[in-house]
Amino acid sequence: MIYIGNHISSAGGFAAMGRKAVELGADTFAFFTRNPRGGKAKDIDPKDVNELKTILKDNGFGPLVAHAPYTMNLSSGKDNVREFSVNILKEDLIRMEYLPGNYYNFHPGAHVGQGSETGTEMIVSALNGAMFPEMNTMVLLETMTGKGTEIGGTFEELKKIINGVNEKDHIGVCLDTCHIWDAGYAIDESIDRVLDRFDSIIGLDRLYAIHLNDSKNPCGARKDRHEKLGKGYIGEETIKKVVQHPALQDKPFILETPNDDEGYAAEIDWVRRHMITYNEI
Ligand code: FE
Ligand code: FE
Ligand code: ZN
Repeated sequence: MIYIGNHISSAGGFAAMGRKAVELGADTFAFFTRNPRGGKAKDIDPKDVNELKTILKDNGFGPLVAHAPYTMNLSSGKDNVREFSVNILKEDLIRMEYLPGNYYNFHPGAHVGQGSETGTEMIVSALNGAMFPEMNTMVLLETMTGKGTEIGGTFEELKKIINGVNEKDHIGVCLDTCHIWDAGYAIDESIDRVLDRFDSIIGLDRLYAIHLNDSKNPCGARKDRHEKLGKGYIGEETIKKVVQHPALQDKPFILETPNDDEGYAAEIDWVRRHMITYNEI
């Protein structure tokens, strides 16, 4: 069994996200920790958070997958952007402690000018400055397409970051199916082969969450344009195999497909009808 849900707007607060997720048939969801374009985070209302916790418990939710804002770039060559990003990361990880046991996913970064090696060092030092031993959150690096100067378009690049992180018990990966496809990992030919590769480089024990998306472009295109499930180049058959893969069971799957509520509810329902419960064999 997997957990399935979509990205939900945090505009109405925590409990409102939980109610929306239940309404759509989800048992996990993703949300931005603050305005995705950056800016200040709203103060946390403990009553609102507690209400969400009750909703999650009553409805058997799996871990939630919070998403850092897109403006966060820990490997920016511009000092002010990097400092701004490091502060967001620190603040977000403290805020996540209000919802212990969940995941915080972010795009590793783009190195603009200074090269991938320096960029990787910057990401590592930002993580080491923001993560702390008592934390209750799993920090997840997202697999990227590798477009432009994006870091994280290969499993090797993610592994380099993980190697440098001190808090090894709190670092993992969120695998985005559209992104790895666009990066050139041909999951239509063989998911096993791609996951074996992931396992030999990073280790499947570091894989905590899936972003389940189809792609508007062919494998290797490095465009990063998400498509509705089954409507893109990855296609329905491969998406089904991803959902049913034994190595991916028990993880939260997040839809980031171009949909409205009705579309998300339909995709969640489709995934539920095609998932397999392995522990009942
Ligand atoms: Fe993302
Ligand atoms: Fe994603
Ligand atoms: Zn994307």
